[in-house]
Amino acid sequence: MKGVFNHTFIGARETGGQAAVVLVGCPLDETSSFRPGTRFAPESIRKASWTLETYSPYFKDDLEDMSFADSGDLPLRPGDLSYSLDTIEQAAAEAYDGDGKALFLGGEHLITYPIMKAVKRRFDGVQVVHFDAHCDMRDDYEGQKLSHATVMRRVAEIGAGEVLHVGIRSGTRQEFEGLIPIDAPASLSARLRPEMPVYVTFDMDVLDPSLVPGVTTPEPGGLTFNEVMEYLLALQGFNIIGADIVELAPDYDPTFVSSVCAAKVAREVLMLLCR
Ligand code: MN
Ligand code: MN
Repeated sequence: MKGVFNHTFIGARETGGQAAVVLVGCPLDETSSFRPGTRFAPESIRKASWTLETYSPYFKDDLEDMSFADSGDLPLRPGDLSYSLDTIEQAAAEAYDGDGKALFLGGEHLITYPIMKAVKRRFDGVQVVHFDAHCDMRDDYEGQKLSHATVMRRVAEIGAGEVLHVGIRSGTRQEFEGLIPIDAPASLSARLRPEMPVYVTFDMDVLDPSLVPGVTTPEPGGLTFNEVMEYLLALQGFNIIGADIVELAPDYDPTFVSSVCAAKVAREVLMLLCR
């Protein structure tokens, strides 16, 4: 599957066949509570990636030296949520067939739910690191059980493993109860168990909206890019088996910088996945 505009993420081999890490576009855009636009994110991230070098001075590694491929976007059906969620779950199951790892580009945050269902079947226990401005722990949102505002509640219910939350600054009183908030990179690496695999779900609104205004639900008081990098560097040495980058809605940012930030997060997460 190739993106309609024929971009690939910078450094990716053309096909996904034998690559250790595969990038999967999941342009789901169905349940946003405020404003939509995430369906345009995977292509925008690929386009923005061409502003970046393949070399990361943070991890001192180069995408060109890594076994990584871009498989394009999944053929989701706008308006057919259950078909789209099934398609994502099936793609995740294929990505985790064998020793493969994957980076999923949303799309809205709800994609994490079908991905984690596939991850749960493949791994005995997985620790989840959740970067987000929002708790996403509601039981339902406006009567909907499946929503970008309930996704981490649904993920917790799967029982894949402990969920650690980074950057949360919005939610109901009930959502904040029982949360495991991480407030420093050192606390993150101290809390994670080295023997267990780690999945990273990265909602772009964890970054401050002055840097990333192109999201569905901007929330002031967010992290800087350098703070995010400190957290990502704290994940070095752990067994990162998968990640997603969600909630970018590129058309709200005419400067294109939001997409560049998402692409840069993707490059650095690929450094973690490819090790
Ligand atoms: Mn959010
Ligand atoms: Mn979210």
